[in-house]
Amino acid sequence: MVGRLTGQGHKAYLVGGCVRDLLLGRTPKDFDVATSARPRQVKRCFRNSRIIGRRFKLVHVHFGATVVEVATFRRAPPAAQDDADDVYLERDNVFGTEEEDAFRRDFTINALFYDVNEKRVIDHVGGLDDLAARRLSAIGDPDVRMREDPVRILRAARFAGRLGLEVADDLRAASLRAAPDLERAAPPRILEDFYRLISSENADHCFRHLEELGALEVLLPELHPLPDWTYDMLQRVAEATGGDRRGLPQPLLFALLVAPLARPILLDEPLGTLDAALSDRLAPLAQRLSVSRRDSMLARHCLAGQARLLLEPRGRRASRYAHREHFGPTLTLRRLMGPLKEGHEDEWEAWLGLAPAEADFPAPPRRDQGQRRGGGRGRRRGRRRGRRGPSQDGRAAGPDENVGQNAGSETKKPPRSETKNRPDNQRGEAPGDRDKAR
Ligand code: ATP
Ligand code: MG
Repeated sequence: MVGRLTGQGHKAYLVGGCVRDLLLGRTPKDFDVATSARPRQVKRCFRNSRIIGRRFKLVHVHFGATVVEVATFRRAPPAAQDDADDVYLERDNVFGTEEEDAFRRDFTINALFYDVNEKRVIDHVGGLDDLAARRLSAIGDPDVRMREDPVRILRAARFAGRLGLEVADDLRAASLRAAPDLERAAPPRILEDFYRLISSENADHCFRHLEELGALEVLLPELHPLPDWTYDMLQRVAEATGGDRRGLPQPLLFALLVAPLARPILLDEPLGTLDAALSDRLAPLAQRLSVSRRDSMLARHCLAGQARLLLEPRGRRASRYAHREHFGPTLTLRRLMGPLKEGHEDEWEAWLGLAPAEADFPAPPRRDQGQRRGGGRGRRRGRRRGRRGPSQDGRAAGPDENVGQNAGSETKKPPRSETKNRPDNQRGEAPGDRDKAR
């Protein structure tokens, strides 16, 4: 790919997370390319490509199931004016040079270019030194960069936790100062970053950083400080998923996020009023984070199910319950949360026997929505419950969450191209982050 672009006289490099991960000896999740070619020129080079984005255009090049994102070099938006509220307002992105493209990125380790033809790393920002020192540093003045986009604090927590990096002192101090601004960031971005944190490798470390950088206290004060058992839970989640988010349906991600808040209720409240009690406690948080009603409801069912698992499964009622759509994920949640009562044997094992299939991780990758099965000839499935229009967080509501599917059954994944193409800007979106909707 890069060869085709350079063959046409353009500059083109691998960039961002893939270069960082390769240098750390890790398998990259995906590959991004930065190029001097303009989107239309890129599109002309690849038949299997699509221009996405309204204001800042990117090209997605499709290779079977893989999508490589090709972005034209651009520079950071003009410096913010004094008006404090102005920092999140959308400004046009402008094409820039290779150096400018490196400097507009968030952390030095995320701004390395790899020249595939020359087989060399190009480092404009000191990222190689930071990688060698296993240090996470902002590019430029950390105060400016964190204030410009406070969601970078969540990103810092994720990279530091996942990759085992030390957060540079000036970045930590700047994050603590900018953390209160997170209140004004766009909820869907925050939610997405929370989901990325929970499903990250070393999720427990990520959340420790989140606390240390002052972000949890601002965003989810109800959860701060996190009780100790939460870190054990996060460790189990990381072990179960291996950092692959596709094993966790979205309602379960939300259930895990609010588990510290739900647990005391699950222990105290009678079954009959449990759902209402959970709803009272969780609704404000769900609303603040713009969680869809469906995700929120299914998460509540899975959480409430934890209290049921304390009881011995008996009779037809139990078997009916075991056939409800959230039963599989309820068992999965139990596996991840651990027993509700410390040292108290619950009836989980007995309930497992009623499961149509073992609810374990990792679940198989979810398929693209609407994709035909059986080589494209099969019956189109998956829209039955998906006609309700977009959910509150902008994603298509539908069966893609697959709550109720146990491991071993097929699950679906929204196409990358959809998740990448964040709806064009709202207040709160980072100026440097318009191309990243994951
Ligand atoms: P991951 O492996 O988790 O995907 P990544 O580094 O690829 O890590 P992405 O969120 O996919 O992270 O973003 C790709 C690149 O885009 C980053 O490496 C970084 O250079 C740039 N980037 C993303 N978000 C921001 C942001 N908020 N501010 C500045 N640069 C950003
Ligand atoms: Mg990435």
